[in-house]
Amino acid sequence: SREIRLAARPAGEPVAGDFTLATTSLPDTPPPGTLLVRNLWMSVDPYMRGRMDDAPSYIPPFELGAPLEGSAVGEVVASGVPEVPVGATVTHFAGWREYALVDAGAATVVDTALAPPSAYLGPLGATGLTAYAALTRTAPVREGDVVFVSAAAGAVGSVAGQVARALGASRVIGSAGGPEKTKKLLDTFGFDAALDHRQGGLAEQLAQAAPDGIDVYVDNVGGDHLQAAIGAIRREGRIALVGAISTYNDTTPAPGPNNLFQAAKQEASLRGMLVTSHFDLFPEWTRKAAAMLADGSLRTERTVVEGIERAPEAFLGVLRGANTGKMLVRLAAG
Ligand code: NDP
Repeated sequence: SREIRLAARPAGEPVAGDFTLATTSLPDTPPPGTLLVRNLWMSVDPYMRGRMDDAPSYIPPFELGAPLEGSAVGEVVASGVPEVPVGATVTHFAGWREYALVDAGAATVVDTALAPPSAYLGPLGATGLTAYAALTRTAPVREGDVVFVSAAAGAVGSVAGQVARALGASRVIGSAGGPEKTKKLLDTFGFDAALDHRQGGLAEQLAQAAPDGIDVYVDNVGGDHLQAAIGAIRREGRIALVGAISTYNDTTPAPGPNNLFQAAKQEASLRGMLVTSHFDLFPEWTRKAAAMLADGSLRTERTVVEGIERAPEAFLGVLRGANTGKMLVRLAAG
């Protein structure tokens, strides 16, 4: 089985040479309590950049020379537990490899009648749940709210816009990089207005799209986006601090928003969130998302890169905006 290991800690933006493809062997018969899984799909996510640095965080750093980790979905090919049969589809955390030996307790059997396996790494997985938790708990949307979402053509953002609408938002504004993505926000993901952050003048673009300001902002980007959102926030507005992808490759801290007192004057709240604290919402979100997918009110996309050897390229791509919807690596057909 082939796997991707961390060869070097990236300095700034990661490069292909920070990763290495290696071959390893796994037992044909998994020890009791474990499952041998043939991974079909693996996820690459922006937060993985943080784990490549040797710095304390909410999750330990990746080890040099060891295989990387992350969400994956695959098919059980040999089982060491009676409850999980061969042929079951499971999600687990041993991505970045073609075959994985996982503890049964760390694997979740998913229902492929409800949605195809890859959906459990996207809308029905952690990125979809992030959007739902951000807009129901961290920065709850109320009927009639004007909502702004950044990285809106991405995995979290594209779902967030549609969830905001379902929760009663009167106007949903998204930002993304470039004309193709902004068109997609309007035509596919149902946003009312789209800002192109590559054009600059984000605060002006936002003022034009939301002349009376915004009530809720889902921040996936940080930096200039957060500053523009604070500048537009209405009284008792709510900002969910979900991510700050514009800063992940920084080697020295970038300047923060310089207008925080604006949030004070508006009695707005800025609240951070980690999706791992909201896993209790999974059953509720799975039901809602499945219903929204079925009635067409949730449209999703994915960008697929083929083969384990190209997983690093997929990861570099997600940091640079090569994806629309969820960025995934297909490891095997199924
Ligand atoms: P996306 O699918 O949104 O991919 C990342 C996108 O970020 C790119 O496609 C690109 O889109 C955009 N981007 C990259 N650099 C910049 C920049 N300098 N300025 C503006 N946009 C940029 O990834 P996810 O949906 O997986 O994650 C989105 C955010 O949510 C990330 O910040 C991530 O860390 C965070 N997150 C947080 C979680 C939590 O628990 N708190 C859980 C999951 C995700 P474009 O081409 O439009 O610029």
